[in-house]
Amino acid sequence: MRDAGALVAQTLDIVGKTITAGMTTSDIDKLVEDNILAAGATPAFKGYHGFPASACVSIDEQVVHGIPGSRKLQEGDIVSVDVGVILEGWYGDSASTFAVGEISESKQKLMDVTRDALFCGIEQVRDGVKLGVVSSAIQKYAESRGYSVVRDLVGHGIGRQMHEEPQVPNYGSPDKGPVLKTGMVIAIEPMINVGVHEVITKKDGWTIVTADEKPSAHFEHTVAVTDEGADILSLLRTEKPERVS
Ligand code: MG
Ligand code: MG
Repeated sequence: MRDAGALVAQTLDIVGKTITAGMTTSDIDKLVEDNILAAGATPAFKGYHGFPASACVSIDEQVVHGIPGSRKLQEGDIVSVDVGVILEGWYGDSASTFAVGEISESKQKLMDVTRDALFCGIEQVRDGVKLGVVSSAIQKYAESRGYSVVRDLVGHGIGRQMHEEPQVPNYGSPDKGPVLKTGMVIAIEPMINVGVHEVITKKDGWTIVTADEKPSAHFEHTVAVTDEGADILSLLRTEKPERVS
């Protein structure tokens, strides 16, 4: 799973270094797919319940599960790119939201708060801690800064399947949920909105958008539980864990 996570990280790193106005969301998908295949791995999303692509690419008010296509990225967009791989039977799953060129201060703040909310949750991960402590930390961080937390979609256990037990909500009471145990691996993935927390599924059956069409951001890491704390499997191998400010 460490190798699967590293491949997801390296793929998202390439996206971050390449993403630019004028690219289509299909161009992003091709970049992702080519990199996964070149590593001898399998794109986990392609064909998953019929999803037609290797990456989910979701712009601005699109929260997650955007289907890549002919839409061109524009200066000022924020773009969530979600990548899953299968490597030797093990899954890795991670997402980042990227800025296309110059973005507004409010979108930058949304991205920063969403990433920091993820790390607030990750900091709580440790053997013996209730999952609700993680969920609650994410919610408190985001809501105290005036943002809302998507309820209808959650993170998940991950391993031999992309989506395993338990569900990992980004909200809720700290005394809820199962107790984390060393060796468990979970994907934590807050989806944070500028406006209301409600979301709607578009007619394509996949794309999730905010009900008020205000922007949303999404960051995700695959995280192993250890006695000492979280071991983030989907960090770039050159990266040091980030500190939450
Ligand atoms: Mg994902
Ligand atoms: Mg996930």
